[in-house]
Amino acid sequence: MNVYDSERMGDLAAGAGYGEAARAEDADLIVLNTCHIRERASEKIFSELGKLRALKEERARSGRRTTLVVAGCVAQAEGAEILRRQPAVDIVVGPQSYHRLPELLREARVRPGVVDTDFPPEDKFSYLPAAPPDAIRRRGVSAFVTVQEGCDKFCSFCVVPYTRGAEASRPLRAVLDEIAHLAQAGVREVTLIGQNVNAYHGTDGEGRRAGLAGLIRAAASVPGIARVRYTTSHPADMSDDLIEAHRDAPALAPYLHLPVQSGSDHVLRSMNRRHTAAGYLDIVARVRAARPDIALSSDFIVGYPGETGADFDETLALVRTVGFASAYAFKYSPRPGTPAADMPAQIDAATKERRLAALQALIEDQRQAFNRASVGRRLEVLFEKPGKREGQIAGRSPYMQAVFAEGPASLIGALEQVEIVAAEAHSLRGRVVAPAS
Ligand code: SAM
Ligand code: SF4
Repeated sequence: MNVYDSERMGDLAAGAGYGEAARAEDADLIVLNTCHIRERASEKIFSELGKLRALKEERARSGRRTTLVVAGCVAQAEGAEILRRQPAVDIVVGPQSYHRLPELLREARVRPGVVDTDFPPEDKFSYLPAAPPDAIRRRGVSAFVTVQEGCDKFCSFCVVPYTRGAEASRPLRAVLDEIAHLAQAGVREVTLIGQNVNAYHGTDGEGRRAGLAGLIRAAASVPGIARVRYTTSHPADMSDDLIEAHRDAPALAPYLHLPVQSGSDHVLRSMNRRHTAAGYLDIVARVRAARPDIALSSDFIVGYPGETGADFDETLALVRTVGFASAYAFKYSPRPGTPAADMPAQIDAATKERRLAALQALIEDQRQAFNRASVGRRLEVLFEKPGKREGQIAGRSPYMQAVFAEGPASLIGALEQVEIVAAEAHSLRGRVVAPAS
C-alpha cells in the first residue's frame, strides 16, 4: 500500500511541477513514506532523517532549497513529535490527507513545520490526479490499485486501525475507471490492495453492494487486463463467493496470501483474531477444493505475549499441515497504544529469535520444495522487466514465483508459456515456449 501511496504522491508532485530525480542529492523535494507496523521500521525513519538533514544543509550551502516531507503511518502516529525530534522536516502528512500535498507544499514555503494528520471528511481518492501515462509505463505492466483502506478488526498487536483509520471501501466505478486508465497505458496485471481487502464492500452504479469477488470479476473484464490478484485478506472475511471466484474466474491468479499469525487457539484468542486454527485449516481446504493448485502464503508472529513453547509447536504443526509456497514470519514488536503492548508475560528477545529462526527454516524448506515441484512444468509467465543479465527477461508465474528466461525485450508485457528448467535460490529459470514474436 505504501508503494501505491508513494506513486500517487509522485503524481501529485508532478502536477505541482516536480519531475523525478535520479538521486536524493538532486532532489528539491524528498518524501519519506513511512511504515509504523513494527518498531524497527519506525526507528529507521529517524536515522534516515538525520542523513537527510545533513543533505539539506549541504544543498543549502550551494543555495539550493530542499523540502523534507514525512508521510505515512509514522507521520500519523507521531505527528508534531517528528518536528521536535528532527526540526529539518518541513511537512508531516498522514496517509489519509496526502491528497493535500500540493497545498501543504505552498504552506511550507511560507511557514515550514506543517502537520496534517487529520482524517478529513472528503474522500482523498477523488482528489488524486490520474497517473500520467508515461509514469504508468515507467512503473511497469503490473500495478497496485488500492480498493479498501483502514481496518475495524483491532487485532491486539496491530497499529493499523489507529494509523489508517476505520475500514472504508472505494466505489466500484472509481476502481474500475482507475484500472481502465492503467490498462490503456499498458498495464496487464492488477493487484487489488487493502489492509483487509476481502472486507471490500463497494457499491455499483445502481447502488447495489459489490463484494471483492464482484470487483475481481469486473476488473478481469477490463480490456487489456489479463491477471488479477488481491492482498491482504483476513480469514474471517473469506466468503464463499470469493472462494468460488478462485474456481471459475480464469484471470484470478491461483495465489492467496492469508495471514494466520499463529497455530495456537490460545494465542489467536488473545490476539483477537476472530478465527481458530481449525477454522483456518477449513478455509484452506475449501480454497483448495475450488482451486487445487493454489499457492498459499501467510504471515506469522512469533513471541506474542504469553506464547508458550507448546503454542509455538502448534504454529509449526499448522505450517506442516498446510504446506505454504511462501510466508512471512515476524518477531512480535510491541506497538504503543495497542492492547498487547501492555500485556504481562512479554517474551524475551532470545526466545523470539530462536522461534523466528525455527519457523523461517521450515517456511524456507517449504518454499524451496514448492519451487522444485515447478521444474519440468509449463507455467504462464507475465514478463515485467529486463533480467539481470544481457538478453534475459524477468517475470512472475501465476503462483508469484520470480521467473527468468532468455528472450527479447519485446516480450515485456506479454503472457508467455514458459517451461521451467531449474529452481534457483530465489527464482525459477525457464525457456520461453514458441514466443509470439
Ligand atoms: N491485515 C492483515 C492481516 O489481517 O493479517 C495484515 C496487515 S499487517 C500490515 C502485516 C503483518 O504485519 C501482519 O499480518 C502481522 O503478521 C504483522 N504485524 C502486525 N503488527 C505486528 C507487530 N506488532 N509485531 C510483529 N508483527 C506485526
Ligand atoms: Fe491489523 Fe490485519 Fe488485524 Fe486489521 S486485520 S488489525 S490490519 S492485523
